[in-house]
Amino acid sequence: MPRISPSCFPSPSSWQPAVRLEALHGSRGPKAGTIGRSPTSPRWPGEASRLPTDHIVGDLLDLEDGPRALRGLGARRPGGSEGGAVTRTVRSIAAHLDWALAEHPTTAEPHDRISANPAAQIHAWYTAVLRFTGRDSRPTHHHAPCPRCEILTLFRDYGDAYIECRNIECGILLTPDEYAAHTQVLAAEYRQNPAA
Ligand SMILES: [Zn+2]
Repeated sequence: MPRISPSCFPSPSSWQPAVRLEALHGSRGPKAGTIGRSPTSPRWPGEASRLPTDHIVGDLLDLEDGPRALRGLGARRPGGSEGGAVTRTVRSIAAHLDWALAEHPTTAEPHDRISANPAAQIHAWYTAVLRFTGRDSRPTHHHAPCPRCEILTLFRDYGDAYIECRNIECGILLTPDEYAAHTQVLAAEYRQNPAA
């Protein structure tokens, strides 16, 4: 069997910078663009970082477009590199952040995974990046059974203001006060019937 010569492979100096730059600039991007690639496309170095990046970049552009449309500021300037577009979008969002957090029509929406509330979206990007880079704290498992499905699947992620049931058929959200009241009810039931 012939040996595979190292010269068959591209030099690290040619691909390592591309991998590092992939997260922001889509250095290996196909001609059709870098946003919203199909998950069925061939695997390539840097793809893992593209998944959260595509998600966040798409949401960033949407968040810029919302205030622009609602406040009559004109359309976003298209074109250029992804890194340049992200820089312009972040500047625009920062300039209108007070309005987005206080006056956007969705500011009353609760902070959950489908919320269009700008504050919830920004928080979700932050936690997604922490998770992707392994800088997040582990979720806290709350050991009382869920008040709806009665499974031991209540967790609170770091930074979240609520406790969530991870049973996908349940998904109940509880405030810490609601969880505390639930545990009081369980404790009272146990005192009345400790054999149950
Ligand atoms: Zn549940």
